[in-house]
Amino acid sequence: MSENLKRAAVTGHPVAHSRSPLIHGYWLKKHGIQGEYGRVDVAPEEAAGFYRDLAAAGLVGVNVTVPHKETAADACDQLDDAAKKMGAANTLWLDDDRRLCGANTDGLGFLGNLDQLAPGWDKQAGTALVLGAGGAARAIVWALLSRQFTKVHIVNRTIEKAQKISDEFGSKTNAQGWDKLGMLLGETDLLVNTTSLGMTGKPPLDIDLDGLPKHALVNDIVYAPMETELLKQAAAKGNPTVDGIGMLLHQAVPGFERWFGVRPDVTEELRTLVLKDLGVIS
Ligand code: NAP
Repeated sequence: MSENLKRAAVTGHPVAHSRSPLIHGYWLKKHGIQGEYGRVDVAPEEAAGFYRDLAAAGLVGVNVTVPHKETAADACDQLDDAAKKMGAANTLWLDDDRRLCGANTDGLGFLGNLDQLAPGWDKQAGTALVLGAGGAARAIVWALLSRQFTKVHIVNRTIEKAQKISDEFGSKTNAQGWDKLGMLLGETDLLVNTTSLGMTGKPPLDIDLDGLPKHALVNDIVYAPMETELLKQAAAKGNPTVDGIGMLLHQAVPGFERWFGVRPDVTEELRTLVLKDLGVIS
């Protein structure tokens, strides 16, 4: 193996399901880079030591998936703003001084997707309504506040979880239960589903968009199926919509750029490749 060959990998436990090798492999080939991107299953009891000594594994950086995102953040010498706020990192690299740096790029993936598919979507950042209060919701609330949204409602079945996120992010955010949804839709400029509802194999997302203003952008981060019932209903009403696969692809961009020195594009070809591999399209 060449000494100059840069190696990166997705790490977690398990990692067999991850599409990251497909995404990074596509970019490595497209840019003709002599690099490798693999999978490393890291046992929980070895995770802290593994991340602290990334160079010993011959890696220039890694993606981190469940259940190691918090352990990875703790191992870092330096974290970006999002990783600090979330206490979790999904992208690690060594800087020129060999210090371990970490970022959380889920929020950036969300922003990159909307920037690409709905340019200008945040020009008049007003009120956003986020359905769900899991890990993805936390990243998206961070992302929306970074783009100066004036109000972010977080609506969740378990209101305590929405309240916890709201307590962390402050007075521009507001936790509500599903019973308030009808009232909140009327003042919504951006609606984002971050629950797993509507995903293949999960219960449907039961929502009536009648009260949603015509201009409101609707984004579903569920990407299997690609066009969810939420997106279908919104499109039928005439609202602009954006699907969720781009978030998965855009969150990978910062890592590739750090490790291999080229900022890659999220192309239609890549979307199709990953959707086919997921079995979402044939
Ligand atoms: P998570 O932490 O497990 O959160 C799941 C959320 O869904 C919670 O708010 C949960 O509410 C809600 N939920 C689940 N079942 C429900 C039900 N029957 N009724 C009402 N609410 C329900 O998951 P996550 O990591 O945030 O991911 C959420 C979804 O986003 C998944 O489908 C995931 O595949 C997708 N995702 C997509 C991307 C992308 O790149 N496009 C990235 C990350 C995640 P409770 O709190 O009440 O349980």
